[in-house]
Amino acid sequence: MRRYQALQLINELTADLPLVVTCAATSRELAAVETRDNHFYVLDSMGLVGSIATGLAIAAKGSDVQKVIGLEGDGSLFMNPNVLPTGGFLSPNRLFLILLDNQVYGSTADIPTYADRVDLGAIAEASGWTVGRADDEASFRSEYARLLNTAGPTFLHMRIEPGNATDVPKLLVDPVTITNRFQAWFTHRLGQGTEVNA
Ligand SMILES: [Mg+2]
Repeated sequence: MRRYQALQLINELTADLPLVVTCAATSRELAAVETRDNHFYVLDSMGLVGSIATGLAIAAKGSDVQKVIGLEGDGSLFMNPNVLPTGGFLSPNRLFLILLDNQVYGSTADIPTYADRVDLGAIAEASGWTVGRADDEASFRSEYARLLNTAGPTFLHMRIEPGNATDVPKLLVDPVTITNRFQAWFTHRLGQGTEVNA
């Protein structure tokens, strides 16, 4: 499976959850699949998805938002792997990081990352995250469902093939507009429901 197909799947599964998305091809392709208010495209901030998702997961404590989803690439997570020990240390119940691992920097000519020799899922596991692994649609769906219902920080390591979708337009929406749109959605979403879970 390539990134675009994985994003179609993730978009389908996360309609009612905050989705923080890494920059460049991943944001561009997800916006091409569908642009929704619950998508926070982290433009030009490589490696910060885990930091933002951790903060939002802490903010969601006590709400009925089941998980805050952070969507990372391997190159981007290697830029700031500190989010793994930080997430494991803080251990928010609602933190869920999905890694789309194609072992290359897909936005810069498929230059190899460290991912063929350094296992980011193992780093997450050693840092206290509950880790699931998938490499196709069926395994992704089952591990996603399991981790969605697992308390504490969860990490779904999805292996995909390299390759960007063709004819995907640049994402030229003003980051301020993206932020305001997501913030309004998230604030409204936090106010919904009466169930309180610590
Ligand atoms: Mg990559």
